[in-house]
Amino acid sequence: MDKLLQEELAAKRERFIRMKTRMAHLPFHKTLDQFDFGFQPSIDERRIRDLATLLFIEHQENLIFLGPLGVGKTHLAVALALEAIKQRYTVYFITSHDMIQTTQQQAHQNHTIKQKMKIFTKPNLLIIDEIGYRKMEDTAAHFFFPIISERYETGSIILTSNKSYGSWGEIFGDSVLATAILDRLLHHSTTNNINGESYRIKEKKKAGFFRPEPQVKNRHKPVNSIAAPSPRGTPSLALTEEFSTVYFEEFSIGLDK
Ligand code: ADP
Ligand code: MG
Repeated sequence: MDKLLQEELAAKRERFIRMKTRMAHLPFHKTLDQFDFGFQPSIDERRIRDLATLLFIEHQENLIFLGPLGVGKTHLAVALALEAIKQRYTVYFITSHDMIQTTQQQAHQNHTIKQKMKIFTKPNLLIIDEIGYRKMEDTAAHFFFPIISERYETGSIILTSNKSYGSWGEIFGDSVLATAILDRLLHHSTTNNINGESYRIKEKKKAGFFRPEPQVKNRHKPVNSIAAPSPRGTPSLALTEEFSTVYFEEFSIGLDK
């Protein structure tokens, strides 16, 4: 009888977690155990494991992951989100672009400010992914600020960006509001800088998309090679055509200039 009850409770808990995970809108399902800390030495595994105790949510603090494309920012955010869901916290994941678009659209309808922001202000943990990857409209900060402000000291945010804080004025097109946003965001927060190589590039290299640069003098350079950013720590490598497509798709929008 006891065993039956336990099984029933376990099944119920699993259903609950599955439902909450669906509601969180995570872009993929990856855990901390799937993260290769050895590949990214700029990340302190102990610190991340410590974050997974979720005290930062308990204390309504924010976490910020900064770094170039492909270094695992979203993976870590998702992994912490999955831990949070297991601990019965509510989570909502959205890219900054979609968040601003949603808020802008709703502003045109007849919702009150509170109603339209509920989806972003209610969850215990809001993940705002990819700040600075795309150019925002001039008015973006006006839609962003109230959400950050409303969550200030009432709920946690995990935020990822490929831009250093110094460029945020540029991202939002309004340095005064950007400062106000940063002020609230950073007051109770931990910033994790990731200075590594893209994991995707590592995988592509392994799959043979890269070949060593031929040592030819005065070789005519392909147009692309002038613009090709060299990820930190990457040895000089020529890009094969197939890889070059992947590379430029990702990096042309991902540079902190
Ligand atoms: P970012 O958000 O920094 O651009 P992602 O978190 O999306 O990067 O990572 C890109 C891909 O590489 C994802 O599939 C992610 O799971 C994987 N990845 C990144 N870093 C690692 C790592 N250290 N160990 C395992 N997988 C990783
Ligand atoms: Mg990402």
